[in-house]
Amino acid sequence: MSKVERAASSALQEGEPVWGYADAPESTDVVKLEDRYGLFIGGEFVEPKSGRRFTTIDPATEEPLAEVADAGPEDVDLAVRSARDAFDGGWRDLPGSERAKYLYRIARMLQERSREFAVLESMNGGKPIKESRDVDLPLAAAHFFYYAGWADKLEYAFPNRRPRPLGVAGQVIPWNFPMLMAAWKLAPALATGNTAVLKPAETTPLTALLLAEVIREADLPPGVVNILTGAGETGALVVGHPDVDKVAFTGSTEVGKIIRRQIAGSGKHLTLELGGKAANIVFEDAPLDQAVEGVVNGIFFNQGHVCCAGSRLLVQEPIFATLVDKLKERLQTLRVGNPLDKNTDIGAINSRAQLTKIEELVQVGIREGGEMYQPECVLPERGFWFRPTLFTNVSQSHRIAREEIFGPVLSILTFRTPEEAVEKANNTPYGLSAGVWTEKGSRILWMAERMRAGVVWANTFNRFDPSSPFGGYRESGFGREGGLHGLEPYLELDGGGRV
Ligand code: NDP
Repeated sequence: MSKVERAASSALQEGEPVWGYADAPESTDVVKLEDRYGLFIGGEFVEPKSGRRFTTIDPATEEPLAEVADAGPEDVDLAVRSARDAFDGGWRDLPGSERAKYLYRIARMLQERSREFAVLESMNGGKPIKESRDVDLPLAAAHFFYYAGWADKLEYAFPNRRPRPLGVAGQVIPWNFPMLMAAWKLAPALATGNTAVLKPAETTPLTALLLAEVIREADLPPGVVNILTGAGETGALVVGHPDVDKVAFTGSTEVGKIIRRQIAGSGKHLTLELGGKAANIVFEDAPLDQAVEGVVNGIFFNQGHVCCAGSRLLVQEPIFATLVDKLKERLQTLRVGNPLDKNTDIGAINSRAQLTKIEELVQVGIREGGEMYQPECVLPERGFWFRPTLFTNVSQSHRIAREEIFGPVLSILTFRTPEEAVEKANNTPYGLSAGVWTEKGSRILWMAERMRAGVVWANTFNRFDPSSPFGGYRESGFGREGGLHGLEPYLELDGGGRV
């Protein structure tokens, strides 16, 4: 070990030594940033007709990274036209086995350039490199591999239902998993023979633009994928374009509702993957140390910027004090800081706006009587940071127990009986995910049957797999992404099946 720091920690007995971690930063040399980027339309990077650009920054340093284009109405129109031409001009009729070849190629290229993508993802989004390297990128490639496998088997997936592509998909994605969300959207759309216009989030456009480069190198026919950077207005233009047949959106419930209203009556197909306020439920017979890891992963993974985050912890009363003590101890060991450091557990908050939202809701939590705990840790001077935070003394009516904070903030409540756990877990307008921690298999099944959530994890949390469908109920949206279910929203099928 080249450099080992000996540091004192208030978490330990006085005089007790602790060995700190040496810095282990990932090099950024692998990333070659342009000063300015165009829009990816018809297989080429083009200047925006809008003439507008904006600066994208590194949220860990607030340093500018590049200038990107802000697509306006003319740009959106060009992109949709290009997607339509590609659809009519051959992509829709290409044999599935041929479409699959492109998807396999993209998947392999993502694997080959995985480090470059991971570093860029962390630079532009603030997430720890160990997550972008070990979760986001492998999963993004896995989605392309997985849907490549389905491309020539649609007739078997939907027997006697004549699966047909819908046409042009307008896809709008958020900033919390930029590459992974791009893969969730593009892979099933292309596998089923649709073409796409994708809009990444305003704060995280850079990996989508790198993906555009990969798509070009993979020789995907021009116009099959078009990538438009911009803000919410660009998203609204994509969604509202009359020649878009299918809208797929991941983001806030608020914008999901706007989109639903915007396209009502237009005949467009729609899937919405929206917010959540998931319950992570720990029974007294659960293996506590594993549960602590699951709870930490459930809420602090990706700074809590996760729609399915386990942001409401429900603990059975007899183990409440023990579990909270263990959690506090574990929080003291979490390392907050440079996203590019391989030892970092919690990186930067994605934007100043998101940091302000987290800070405001935490203040509300305190005002409403919640008892806050944060470990002592030194935060970097520049950039957007928030300490991992726990709240006890929370009741169901508190805003921090009801609203999606989308940050590293956990609200802890208690329950006595399984029935009470079910009632409290389901007492939310959302319904995206839930977690159950118990030794008893029968209790897992009993709980899973009663949870009103799209995904229920048992003795684990935040596990994703391309073959497993993901999506919500009620204010968490509708339609499924992933698995066989994820093909259906991109297909016209005899006998219905329209989402
Ligand atoms: P948004 O829902 O506003 O953003 C998601 C995507 O939609 C972005 O690409 C955004 O563009 C775009 N968009 C915004 N307005 C429109 C519109 N009217 N029509 C079409 N597209 C639009 O989320 P925010 O980024 O504003 O985050 C706000 C809150 O939403 C967070 O605090 C969090 O609680 C929640 N959220 C939930 C997510 C989830 O997966 N459940 C993901 C992201 C946020 P742009 O980025 O340029 O504004």
